[in-house]
Amino acid sequence: MSAVRVAIAGSSGSIGTQTLDVVRAEAGRYEVVALGVGSSIDVLIAQALEFRPKVVAVADESKRAEVAAALPFAEVVADFADLVQSADVVVNAVVGFAGLAVTVGTLREGKRLALANKESLIAAGPVVQPLRSTPGAELVPVDSEHCAVHQSLRSSAFPDREVARIVLTASGGPFRGRTAEQLASVRVDEALAHPTWKMGPKITIDSSTLMNKGLEVIEAHELFGTPYDQIEVVVHPQSVVHSMAEFTDGSTIAQLSMPDMRLPIGYALAYPARIGTPFGRIDWGTLGRLDFEAPDTQTFRCLPLAYEAGRVGSTAPAWLSAANEVAVDAFLQGRLRWSQIAEVCDAVLQRYEPGPDATVADIIAADARARAVAQEELPE
Ligand code: MG
Repeated sequence: MSAVRVAIAGSSGSIGTQTLDVVRAEAGRYEVVALGVGSSIDVLIAQALEFRPKVVAVADESKRAEVAAALPFAEVVADFADLVQSADVVVNAVVGFAGLAVTVGTLREGKRLALANKESLIAAGPVVQPLRSTPGAELVPVDSEHCAVHQSLRSSAFPDREVARIVLTASGGPFRGRTAEQLASVRVDEALAHPTWKMGPKITIDSSTLMNKGLEVIEAHELFGTPYDQIEVVVHPQSVVHSMAEFTDGSTIAQLSMPDMRLPIGYALAYPARIGTPFGRIDWGTLGRLDFEAPDTQTFRCLPLAYEAGRVGSTAPAWLSAANEVAVDAFLQGRLRWSQIAEVCDAVLQRYEPGPDATVADIIAADARARAVAQEELPE
């Protein structure tokens, strides 16, 4: 069997480097044909020297010549969408809305999209959904919760009519159990200290506010077509149960594993098969307890805001996601308090302006407008 050809957009980040771990561990099974980064060219060059891709994309124009000189065997391109052509599977590990072109380009080409970039699906649901029916196109989630739901749904021959509820688990992040008062003055480094997952800064801040879980509710709705009333969130601090599906007979099927993103990455690469490498195995003798509790939606306002945006639909999720990106950036730069992230998102959502949502250009316009509104809502 010839190797499955893999392209990775966003290869220098947390998901990108872990994808290469999977490729390394599954020797002979995958061939890396394309890699793309924003500006982290030192990482890219080292990766390319090891994996010898045919194409590398570098978004930062000023760094392309240096990459071309270091990698004479590879074609250096500007556009991440150009990574798609030569691959069987495209891993979209770009951070934030910038991942939209890869999501759209991959599905349009009729390829498998291993989606770690949830923002593109959340913001552009109305555009992405019709592309999923392109012949050959397939969307397999890399997000651990959605990977768990994807696996759980395989236990039903008729998921369209037999799913009663999807239950997404949330670790609760570093601030679980704290009051709004205690959270008024948290620092960036505290928000970046996630208890169970090691991830990039944007998603780690999103986990601390529960916006990540809110965005995942919208992501679950888009991926599986489940109505919002049938998607629930439960806090599970150990991050061993990665999510579950409850069926019409009351059965709940969950997926459990140690928290390691290489499992969902390998699942998305190999589906419907499974990779042969276990990245961590549960030791039942020492695992101890699995705890569950309801999320505190009074303190963690971003979660109900996401339900609100999701139910409005159209470009409202794009507005929320854009507002959140602006707010998280401002927080990381010390321009915004942690508690103000939710306030900015709420203010932007209250100023939502419905608009067309049928094309990529519509979504980009909605994103830009929401960012402008978010800038106005930032404190002086
Ligand atoms: Mg997740």
